[in-house]
Amino acid sequence: MDPEAVFPLDIKTGKSHLMTEAVRHFDITEWADYVRNTDSSDQHRLMQAHLQGGCSRCERIKSLLSKFAAVCSREASYQIPRAAEQQVKAMIGMAKAPRRSALQRLWATLVYDSVNDPQPVGVRGTHQINRQVLFHAGDYSVDLRFEHEKGSASMVLVGQIANQKTPDEMLANLPVILVAGNREVTRSISNTFGEFQLEYVPESDLRLLVPLESRGQELEVQLGKTPQL
Ligand SMILES: [Zn+2]
Repeated sequence: MDPEAVFPLDIKTGKSHLMTEAVRHFDITEWADYVRNTDSSDQHRLMQAHLQGGCSRCERIKSLLSKFAAVCSREASYQIPRAAEQQVKAMIGMAKAPRRSALQRLWATLVYDSVNDPQPVGVRGTHQINRQVLFHAGDYSVDLRFEHEKGSASMVLVGQIANQKTPDEMLANLPVILVAGNREVTRSISNTFGEFQLEYVPESDLRLLVPLESRGQELEVQLGKTPQL
């Protein structure tokens, strides 16, 4: 049971969770049982009523697990993969303010910028590749590609995090958070290869944060100093 304060207001529905303050949320293992129908009927009804009450937090967990359960049911095992569970847990952490982090900050420095490169970057598919930059932060490298589709107001940022000293280090399921000042703009989760993708409308003072909980560190890339187009 997480503190309700984490989701004071649902952006999509505008519903305040304060009115359901006394309501107990259900955790990931309970939702896993729910989507597989392995819980008791009383519990199932209780949880169904909770969703109908409009809890977006639990709805998100449930819908994610439903998708995973659908995939799992097509395979022999009904186990929810560990990676999927980590991903859901990372998403539950979505509303946590990135500034509250007690992790040691690793500042990234720019080591490559395609605008300084005489070679044209070229066009790939329908996306015009506008700019490619490479940052180093401690042992880590952060490769960023800013893509802008013609006529679109938004920018697509495709990135990859790697550990240069130990390239085999798994950098999967890391939250990648885009912030403007103290406000979270959007967030994603790195895949098995440490890759991630974010779509956002460009604004000033954008920073990319990558918490590395296991190391007690957090990467910070200042995009504000990088012209994005
Ligand atoms: Zn809930």
